Amino acid sequence: MFLRPSLLCPHHPYNSIFLILLMVDDIYLNKPNELFEALERELEDSEKIVAIQIAPAVRVAIGEEFGYAPGEDLTKKTIGLLKQLGFDHVVDTPLGADINIYEEAYEILHALERNDEDYFPVFNSCCIGWRLYCSRTHEKICKHISPIASPHMITGSIINHYLQKKLGKPRKEIVSVSVMPCTLKKYETMEQFPDGDPYVDYVLTTRELADFARKKGLDLKTAPESEFSEFFPDSSKDGVVFGVTGGLVEALLTTLAHILEVEKENEHYFRNDDAIKEREVKLGEYTLRVVSVHGFANLEKVLKEIEDGKKFHFVEVMSCPYGCVGGPGQPLPADEETLKARAAGLRKAADNKDSVATVPQENPTVQKLYRELLDRPGSETARKLIYFHKVKL
Ligand code: SF4
Repeated sequence: MFLRPSLLCPHHPYNSIFLILLMVDDIYLNKPNELFEALERELEDSEKIVAIQIAPAVRVAIGEEFGYAPGEDLTKKTIGLLKQLGFDHVVDTPLGADINIYEEAYEILHALERNDEDYFPVFNSCCIGWRLYCSRTHEKICKHISPIASPHMITGSIINHYLQKKLGKPRKEIVSVSVMPCTLKKYETMEQFPDGDPYVDYVLTTRELADFARKKGLDLKTAPESEFSEFFPDSSKDGVVFGVTGGLVEALLTTLAHILEVEKENEHYFRNDDAIKEREVKLGEYTLRVVSVHGFANLEKVLKEIEDGKKFHFVEVMSCPYGCVGGPGQPLPADEETLKARAAGLRKAADNKDSVATVPQENPTVQKLYRELLDRPGSETARKLIYFHKVKL
């Protein structure tokens, strides 16, 4: 495992992510060759459909492994590279983020409607580093972490269940892979459905994908541009901005405003890299206090305020500097300037997205998935397929 020396300092605000890596078994003992061999076997098996999802933060960092500047949006070339590697379907993890935030918005609205003070604050479930840290250091708070699965796991579940339905294939012939900025996402796949089926079968980090491509003699620079799977073509701006600090809160507020059919104030308040961003936002008849924080030392300040009686409706926690763009599976070295460039690049990628949807509920793929698979937010099927069944890790 590669440790950045500055992060070993006990006073560094981001040191805890590496302590978490040491707390969990095996994960840091990367065995890329075994992983690559397993993937090669799956890709060569003509009976199997192998689908892969790409997390938002990957697109603005993978280029660094191939000589591009940090922050350059290489979504289409990365899809092309994955197709050259033999993957049958490439899916955008922001599609799972769209579904995650759509469900979250409804859960929060229902709690507001029934005036359920005890429901708040809600903490995000999408950062596995935060969930592990919480379960080991603040166990009492864990019940406030959203039970809605992370975008990674939602996308994995959608790939498995929708492709089984559409292609008439049994689960054992569908392989669900992911490319994540996060080494800990490998640990997240230990969370399974009650019958023991995983949401995601294999996780590659951004660096591992680059190594896998090089092993196969491929280069991102010469890869053709390509498009996401015809079964899952769309994701919204909100889903993409998830990968950078403040993005989740921005997506939640935009989605809530859209559902409530009201204007959203302070549109771009969360569009900066500050370690703690806090705001009271008026949405029609409701006033919500929300906060976005990255780094555990900063989180501890927010948790102290909560302990002292401060009320929040939603708390976004990202373990890594600047959010997932600064994840431990991203290219190295990653200095402050690189992280800032990735963060700015991802916000720009979200705004420039050639998608018909800016919010999850307008995303045609989200609409199709609710129509054909999930029914409606909070439905029995949604709870079965896209919520966590075993929250404690
Ligand atoms: S913020 Fe870091 S630990 Fe959390 S999900 Fe993203 S990359 Fe993983």
